[in-house]
Amino acid sequence: MILHKHFDTNEKGHLTIGGMDAVELAKEYGTPAYILDEEVIRENCRAYKKAATDAFGEDALPLYASKALCFTGVYRIAAEEELGVDCVSGGELFTAKKAGFPAERIYFHGNNKTDRDIADAMDMGVGTFVVDNEDELAAVSAEAIRRGITQRILLRITPGIDPHTHRAVITGNVDSKFGSAIATGQAMRIVKKAIAAQGIELAGLHCHIGSQIFDIEPFADAADIMIRFLATIKEECGYHIRELNLGGGLGVRYTEYDRQIDYADAIHRIAAVVKEFCGKSGIPMPRVILEPGRSLVAAAGATLYTVGSVKEIPGFKNYISVDGGMPDNPRYALYQSQYTALIANRATEPREYRATLAGRCCESGDLLGENMEIQKAQRGDILAVLVTGAYNHSMASNYNRLPRPPVIMVKNGEARVAVRRETYEDLVALDQL
Ligand SMILES: *Cc1c(COP(=O)(O)O)cnc(C)c1O
Repeated sequence: MILHKHFDTNEKGHLTIGGMDAVELAKEYGTPAYILDEEVIRENCRAYKKAATDAFGEDALPLYASKALCFTGVYRIAAEEELGVDCVSGGELFTAKKAGFPAERIYFHGNNKTDRDIADAMDMGVGTFVVDNEDELAAVSAEAIRRGITQRILLRITPGIDPHTHRAVITGNVDSKFGSAIATGQAMRIVKKAIAAQGIELAGLHCHIGSQIFDIEPFADAADIMIRFLATIKEECGYHIRELNLGGGLGVRYTEYDRQIDYADAIHRIAAVVKEFCGKSGIPMPRVILEPGRSLVAAAGATLYTVGSVKEIPGFKNYISVDGGMPDNPRYALYQSQYTALIANRATEPREYRATLAGRCCESGDLLGENMEIQKAQRGDILAVLVTGAYNHSMASNYNRLPRPPVIMVKNGEARVAVRRETYEDLVALDQL
């Protein structure tokens, strides 16, 4: 086992993913390629669903935050595992619709929904809008009135929590671009407007404090603040809020230095504090919604590359260059995210070499990691970066006119193309002049 139980090695000393030889997969599908172990995603969906309903009650619902990894096959898995989904754009809504995902189980997020997004979502019959701000509330209300419908909404609230994660992925602090802060009084103001608004049914509140969080405390603190706020709303407005969406953000093990979180255990611990705080505030348990993205899909993925060159600069550092980079995985360039990499065709050898993993773009910042522990490499080796299921494919670009890699799903010893590799023709398909 390497980090997670579906990453292992075989008798040839090759890396295996879901029991399949990574070197063979690279040969068959080419590199770079994203490999996804479908069973891992399904197991995670089931673990969340079971823990949520056991801990919070039958009506609890985990939503898959689909910005983490978005293509039709993933929405089909979420539908089959009876999760809801969180979509953040017209493009994600369209993909969910194409996959036949039930619209009433979609929660539509985003801090700037355009008029077209709002209309498209209502055309689709999206169950719930998560409204970010007062301008958006007015726009959603106006469109609902125009159509003669009542749109179910949650309001995104910022509880004012610092969850001790990377600055770029904190979202629950008072000065966040997302939501309305309790501390400034803006949250209460938008609640009152939503209660009064025509064409709107205020069903609940939402908060999401950030991503890649390993402690339960920030979630407990957020739940405490949100439940007190529910009680204040009841007192001040006589309005009972039935649904509380606690967001996503549970962390994933990317390297040996990260802990492995037992998600079921984490959910039970969060449920215990929610029940306690509801008891203290004298309000009935709301229906609880959870919104995991990364923790459902990240560990399921690995990216396979071919090594092109090894450059040793005496007295400085060693570079291993691969045939992908920031266009297929921008996370190191964006957040200095740490990964585990290994040479898939010599995976049982100790990782005693130190190298900077460079991509192939004309950009010095195009790195997948620095000072990484890996096996000594040579041109032609297959290099695997593990735990790339979340925020890799969905963040990919065509920078340097590089076609985006395919997504290959493995399950029960078989591999299928879930998203085909982009071609050069695809790259020029939109060009009109
Ligand atoms: C990104 C996001 C999530 C998922 O976060 P993860 O860290 O991937 O679990 C959930 N809810 C909202 C509103 C988000 O923006």
